[in-house]
Amino acid sequence: MSEEMRTFGYLCPRCGRPVMGTRSIFALEASDAEIACECGGSVLRTSYDGRNYRLSVPCGLCGEVHASVCPPERMLRGATALGCARTKQFSCFIGPEGVVEQHLRELSILAEKEKQQTDDPQAFADSVIMYEVLSELRDIAARPGGITCACGSGRYGMEIRRSAVDLICRDCGAKLRIPAATDRDLDDLCCRMKLVIPGR
Ligand SMILES: [Zn+2]
Ligand SMILES: [Zn+2]
Ligand SMILES: [Zn+2]
Repeated sequence: MSEEMRTFGYLCPRCGRPVMGTRSIFALEASDAEIACECGGSVLRTSYDGRNYRLSVPCGLCGEVHASVCPPERMLRGATALGCARTKQFSCFIGPEGVVEQHLRELSILAEKEKQQTDDPQAFADSVIMYEVLSELRDIAARPGGITCACGSGRYGMEIRRSAVDLICRDCGAKLRIPAATDRDLDDLCCRMKLVIPGR
């Protein structure tokens, strides 16, 4: 009979690599567990006080170590994620190995993207929102008369900025700024069938 296993996954704040470790439920109940990165730069720790699990999780997003308390039903069943208070994103995953592995892969792509953003001040405020906004703009532009200018022109150019997209009329030069930084911006755009640049 195979023992029930739990996998833990986080991103190492030191080397940036995904770290995964698997322990049996029996072992987690019986003793403290440690899951360390190969680089030696970080360790995830769990302990059980008879009522709750206490975890200290190195956070690959903000670089700090987050303390968290998990009741056994959350720690030992299903799949769960622990958040980073600073970035408001999940930074640790607990559950079946396949699920944890997948979430961890997504997290490392996200962390990589964010790192690029801090390295590059020209990068988008939120690249996911920016891509969504651009694809929404493509849909609107594909509709007949989807993007026009109040001057009567249907010719426009697009300039992509850090947290907005500018639509610029090629005939009169008027500009319509589409914010592209937050979920709200995306929601606002999604309910618009057509866009009209306020002409000069
Ligand atoms: Zn490491
Ligand atoms: Zn964090
Ligand atoms: Zn115009």
